[in-house]
Amino acid sequence: MAMKDYDIIVVGAGTAGMMCAIFAAKRGLRTMVLEKADHIGGAMHWSGGHMSAGGTKLQKRLGIEDSPEKHYEDIMRINGGSGDLALIRKAVDLAPQLIDWLDDNGFEFDPIAPRIVYGHVPYETPRTHYGVESAKTTLKTMMPHWEKGVAAGLITVALEHEVQRVSKIGDRYSKVHCTTQDGEKVYEGHHILLTTGGYGSNPEFFNDQHPGIPLVSAAYPTATGDGHLMIMKEHGSMRFSEHHLSSMGGIENPNGSGRCDFFEGWASVLTSVYRQPRDIYVDQQGDRFITEDEINPDTRERVMLANDIWHFWIIFDEAALLERDDQGNENPIIINWNTEKIKLEAERERFLYRADTIKELSDKINIPANNLIKTVNNFNAMVDNDHDPDFGREYLKNKIAEAPFYALKVHASVLVTFGGVNVNADLQVLNKEGDVLEGLYAAGELIGLGATSGSAFCSGMSITPALSFGRWLGDTLKRSNAS
Ligand SMILES: Cc1cc2nc3c(=O)[nH]c(=O)nc-3n(C[C@H](O)[C@H](O)[C@H](O)COP(=O)(O)OP(=O)(O)OC[C@H]3O[C@@H](n4cnc5c(N)ncnc54)[C@H](O)[C@@H]3O)c2cc1C
Repeated sequence: MAMKDYDIIVVGAGTAGMMCAIFAAKRGLRTMVLEKADHIGGAMHWSGGHMSAGGTKLQKRLGIEDSPEKHYEDIMRINGGSGDLALIRKAVDLAPQLIDWLDDNGFEFDPIAPRIVYGHVPYETPRTHYGVESAKTTLKTMMPHWEKGVAAGLITVALEHEVQRVSKIGDRYSKVHCTTQDGEKVYEGHHILLTTGGYGSNPEFFNDQHPGIPLVSAAYPTATGDGHLMIMKEHGSMRFSEHHLSSMGGIENPNGSGRCDFFEGWASVLTSVYRQPRDIYVDQQGDRFITEDEINPDTRERVMLANDIWHFWIIFDEAALLERDDQGNENPIIINWNTEKIKLEAERERFLYRADTIKELSDKINIPANNLIKTVNNFNAMVDNDHDPDFGREYLKNKIAEAPFYALKVHASVLVTFGGVNVNADLQVLNKEGDVLEGLYAAGELIGLGATSGSAFCSGMSITPALSFGRWLGDTLKRSNAS
């Protein structure tokens, strides 16, 4: 039974969905937001919140010359002109307004933002903006506007309402069906916006999109591809899954869980800009497969994809563990861990192992001992000769020679998913034939990182378009009696 009419029904009270509701409410539109979790905010609770924009007020204050055009050109340089170019253009055009709006509303920028971030292939200009508390700063800045919309009765939010499907009245998608603790409910609205996030927490759907790639995921737990599945049921289609790139560094914990945590345990293998590798990386056969001090993260990610290497082992010795960086700080292989924590973890033998000899270490991690011993000996000879004939590694300062020896298991991991549902430049969902599904829109990670970032990780090109496109829809969708 239909319960009430709304101008917009937003499915998912996360990054894109909240922005849509906030800006729709500013125009007096009535928005129902259906959220399956018991809280709002979605991936903003976990996201690094790196937002990229060219030509912001903050950049101007700091004397940084930039523009949406330069941002676009930089993206094209990084991703080789891939992705949905109309959406990338729209995203970079809208991005400065988004950052300026946050700025005008008291957003607390990290003192070193905007900056060039080297965890991805870097932009040429400092344009990655973020808050002191990552994406939580973004959520915090949005909250007063959200609460104002709720207080005015323009935003209605229903938590623990898990949307299962959408359906039409006549030719237009107008109904949303969800399950709640009180049974099924159906809501009617003039527009339906799906902003359910990615699919990095749905192993089955991930496997379907990326056969043969084992999923070790740090995606937000609610990113279970619900919107993708709903749109597939309505004869929609997926695109850009072929652009998938893994993020290197995830530590699976517990072992076999398929989960890793970007904040609790991530190996510092993003780029040697942040930490020179005092270690070697080997595959399950005990062979090196990569230039460990490669500066370009994209190159590293592609080496793993090309060689079907979905996990590898970082091998290091006690001297590497104890070494200090130039400022005298500990800088071990796991970000934000210290030596003591690493030693304790090595005793537990979950993903980190320690042994007095390379032979013993190989046995613990199930690598052919002769091969790993040979790889380590070869590497030590390269340090002596200051030359790596195999991979051209330049940082050759430490031999792996001082017991005990350590092995850390690291996975090609997933934070954000590249595949997304096919939409046009107005974010209307398209069916397999390319026709608009009237009344149905999609934004956020549901449209795929591959659409807004192409076949590479371009800094900020997931959360920034999610926020901007949500806002744009809230700014532009017509009220129900004005279509
Ligand atoms: C650890 C981490 C770090 C990241 N860092 C960055 C970064 O620095 N820069 C960047 O650009 N991107 C980053 N990302 C990605 C970015 O944060 C996300 O892509 C973006 O926030 C997703 O926004 P969204 O609106 O699509 O989804 P979300 O914010 O996840 O919102 C989706 C909402 O929909 C709800 N939902 C799902 N299914 C249903 C259903 N059936 N019914 C009702 N509700 C439903 C969910 O519960 C959730 O609240 C990061 C992601 C992670 C996990």
